Amino acid sequence: MSEAALVLSGVRKSYREGRGRLPVLTGVDCRVAPGEMVALVGPSGSGKTTLLQIAGLLDQADEGEVRIEGIDCAALGDAARTRVRRDRLGFVYQFHHLLAEFTAVENVALPQRIAGRGKAEARAHAAALLDRLGLKERLRHRPGELSGGERQRVAIARAVANGPAVLLADEPTGNLDHRTADHVFGALVDLVRDGRVASLIATHNTGLAARMDRRLSLQDGVLVEE
Ligand code: ADP
Ligand code: MG
Repeated sequence: MSEAALVLSGVRKSYREGRGRLPVLTGVDCRVAPGEMVALVGPSGSGKTTLLQIAGLLDQADEGEVRIEGIDCAALGDAARTRVRRDRLGFVYQFHHLLAEFTAVENVALPQRIAGRGKAEARAHAAALLDRLGLKERLRHRPGELSGGERQRVAIARAVANGPAVLLADEPTGNLDHRTADHVFGALVDLVRDGRVASLIATHNTGLAARMDRRLSLQDGVLVEE
């Protein structure tokens, strides 16, 4: 059996609600293998973002296990968690979260610099990624000078800049028209397949979900294979 890059087992999460608790995840299990693309679907409020935040080590589960490339992340201290996030995880959000004062190249170079890569090398890799995503002519543009689809492609380049094992995306095309969404998704597929990245992608776009390898639907706090 090929080792899954991302494993969630028995993940439970509830939020405080008045005097009680609102259960959101009640026992989530899933495994995503390298190079595999899994769609995370389910109605608004079903817990997709909560699940991705836990898988991305941005939030802690109440119970259960998160393993990234075999590392049991619940057991990690803050510094080690940050390292796993930096070196092994990539995240794409619905809103691009690019730094407004920085150019496209600088935005993609930044996580590489934080990971210790030299300036010239980081910029060259950033430029190569952006070129691959069809943004060769946009390297020195700031986010405010880019279209929505272009910004999302920069955000994708940034997410994969350090060669993550796992990519988590939270409605990455949710803000885009259908044609642009298709284009951005195509770019994502390319990079994920090529880099053998295990990806879990929340989407409301049934067309895009259908193009992934599997679809997991969040229903009443658990994942159901569609
Ligand atoms: P989705 O991404 O599928 O729309 P979310 O994970 O954002 O769902 O939310 C799942 C449920 O948890 C919703 O009912 C939401 O209101 C609730 N929720 C999310 N985050 C918090 C929080 N920080 N505190 C309290 N309730 C939250
Ligand atoms: Mg959400």
